[in-house]
Formats: sequence, structure tokens, C-alpha cells
Amino acid sequence: MGDNRETVGACVRSASEPSYIADYHAHSIEYWNSVSADTNGMLGGFPQTSRIDLQGSSNFLTKLRRTKSTSASKLPLHPLDRVADCGAGVGRITKEFLLKVSKRVDVVEPVTKFTDELVQSLGSGEWAGDGEATIEGKGQVGDVINLGLQDWVPETGAYDIIWNQWCLGHLTDAQLVAYFKRCKDGLVKEEGRESWIVVKENMSTDFMKKDIYDEEDSSVTRSDEKFRQLFKEAGLKIVATELQKGFPRELFPVRIYALKPE
Ligand code: SAH
Repeated sequence: MGDNRETVGACVRSASEPSYIADYHAHSIEYWNSVSADTNGMLGGFPQTSRIDLQGSSNFLTKLRRTKSTSASKLPLHPLDRVADCGAGVGRITKEFLLKVSKRVDVVEPVTKFTDELVQSLGSGEWAGDGEATIEGKGQVGDVINLGLQDWVPETGAYDIIWNQWCLGHLTDAQLVAYFKRCKDGLVKEEGRESWIVVKENMSTDFMKKDIYDEEDSSVTRSDEKFRQLFKEAGLKIVATELQKGFPRELFPVRIYALKPE
């Protein structure tokens, strides 16, 4: 494939027609605008998988954070300072997981209908903040950023974790590599403080390990091999990875990766 060509799922076009990428994003935004602003909409009609997913993520993060602190492994983990929930939708992961482990969660999501729902739910009921994150973890939503990840530039050195789940298929390979490079700059870089990019995505089941393109929402499902190649291109190394257990068999396998700059 020539250098000036880029892959969007099954489609390969010349980069001299950049409008096709804009069309690709416009089509997915149109799809997501047609979906209900709730967990059922976010999870494509499998809302029952949310609890299993969040438990898996929580266990993964705890293991990751405990790796270095063997001597203090029984003590509760202190809250993180600031994390980002990318492609956050209505904030399923923010509300049920990230706010419990971090003082501040910034939300990046292109569809305003979803973030409106999130912001509204924060102002009422159990998610109404009390201004202070506690050790048990009741963080606050910080910035709400209505951008696609292809356009988002994380603040330099700001984040303990940049969490990306079930949204990276909306970026082309080239956009994803460029995005990962920006994420590297967005991680906290301080002596004694660890930070990670987390990716949790469906894995292609194609027997040739090819990307699977979904016309309905204009997204691509990549293979483990493809993700590893893109991480490498971006200068990221995998420090932990596992398959999500306990999902219905008819769904794609789901893999989670913790990444750090090489
Ligand atoms: N991560 C959330 C939502 C998953 S649904 C969760 O697991 O619950 C996929 C989300 O990706 C939708 O909210 C959709 O609006 C968003 N999305 C679509 N195009 C995107 C893009 N280019 N960049 C970031 N997010 C995008």
C-alpha cells in the first residue's frame, strides 16, 4: 500500500480525497445520535454486560496499581488525581468506575446528546458531587470536551490514566497512531507517580486477523496483532493485558491493555 493511502476498515482510498474521512466520522456521529442515551444504547443492546465489564476493569486496574507496591498491598489505594474517559458516551464508565478511583474525571465525547445526559444526571441524585473526593472515592467530573478523539489534544502531563473503551474503531489507523502519540504527552511524568494509557476494545475474530468493518456505525474492529502493531508505531509498550472474562459467547472477545511510553 502506498504511503499516501490510508485504511478505513475495508475501504482504501487515496489521501488526496480527505473528505471521505470527514464523511466517515459524520456517518458514525449520525449513527450515535440515533441511539438512546443510556447504557443499553452504549452497549448495543447488551446492557447486562456492563456490570461484568466494570468489575473486570476495576480488578485489572487494582492489579496494575499494586504491582509495584508489594509491601503495602493490603492498604487501600489512594485516589488518583485526574483521569480521562475517552469516547465516554453517557458516562457509564465515569460514573460506575472512574469517579470511584479518581478525584477528577475529564470526559471526551463527540455526541453532545450523551454528555448532556451525563451532566444532567450529575446534577441530580446520587451523582451530585459534594466538592471533595474522599478516600472511598467520590470524584468530580472536570472538563466535558465535545470532540472526537482525532481532534482532541490532551493537556500535557495532566493524566494518571487515559481510558479508551469501545470507541477507537472510529479512528483510522493513522489517526489512532497520531492520537496515541498525543496521549503519551498527556500522561503525568513525575518521579514516583505511575501513569497509563488504557485501551479496552473488541477483538476481530477474522481468521486472517483482518479488520472487520461495520457499516452501521462506520467503525472497524481490529485484531490483537493490529493493535500491537499500532502501539509499536506510536512508541507504546504493553505493561499488562488480559481478555475480559464472562461475556456472552455471541459477542466479540474483549481485550484490555495498559500501555506506557517505550
Ligand atoms: N466508552 C463508553 C461508550 C461506548 S459507545 C462505554 O463503554 O460505555 C461508543 C462511543 O464512542 C459513543 O459514545 C460515540 O459517540 C463515541 N464516538 C463516536 N465517534 C467517536 C470519535 N471519533 N472519537 C471518540 N468517540 C467517538
